[in-house]
Amino acid sequence: MAVEGNSVALPQFLKKIELIKQGAEARVYRGSFLGKPTIVKERFPKLYRHPLLDEKLTHRRTVQEVRSILRCRKAGISAPVVYFVDYTSHCIFLEDIVGSITVRDHIAFTQLSSAQKIPEERLDQLAKKMGQILAKMHDEDVVHGDLTTSNMLLKAGTESGETELVLIDFGLSYISALPEDKGVDMYVLEKAFLSTHPNTEALFEKLLKAYAASSKKSHAVIKKLDEVRLRGRKRSMVG
Ligand code: AMP
Repeated sequence: MAVEGNSVALPQFLKKIELIKQGAEARVYRGSFLGKPTIVKERFPKLYRHPLLDEKLTHRRTVQEVRSILRCRKAGISAPVVYFVDYTSHCIFLEDIVGSITVRDHIAFTQLSSAQKIPEERLDQLAKKMGQILAKMHDEDVVHGDLTTSNMLLKAGTESGETELVLIDFGLSYISALPEDKGVDMYVLEKAFLSTHPNTEALFEKLLKAYAASSKKSHAVIKKLDEVRLRGRKRSMVG
């Protein structure tokens, strides 16, 4: 089905494709657009918010998501291609990374299937790659805002045979040069990583080591990360 340049055709189009996720802020669909496997992210109105404020916030998030993806892609960081954006219905049409799995599932499967071996060793290369890509993203002043192992996809490489790491879900991202913002970004990832994947402290350290080695600006970010960790610890001691 074609999506024409009017706001009537889009809701009809969305009804005909598969809903894969209903979130608090957005619905995610999977379908075909202009013959290509496509993911559609639709930000719907939040009725508890004042309509004007809601419209403004939703518009801003859509713009920020597209801007961050484009900025990453321009710098050679893998993120889905943006096919089409509709600012009336707040829909983003993105390349569907076909045949990919989330880093979360990959780590979980590797940990399960390597009970005899030390799983970290098998995941070393992945941790290194994650650290390098995140350093590159931060060097572009893109702060992701929701770094988790579910928001990174692994795609089997076509020519090189190497797997590609693709960053997704830039819905909470923004542009900032501040080491504090980047430090918090890494702290969010650390919390998510260690709570999702047990016994991976050493693996996460490798990620941070690769991050530090890949960026000239990383020193200030790691310093901020240490400060944020300390703040977090103090808060949990107070209760
Ligand atoms: P999101 O709300 O953007 O995190 O998307 C929800 C889920 O849809 C993700 O956890 C992925 O499994 C999947 N997904 C989102 N974007 C893509 C994409 N571009 N290609 C393939 N799968 C995706």
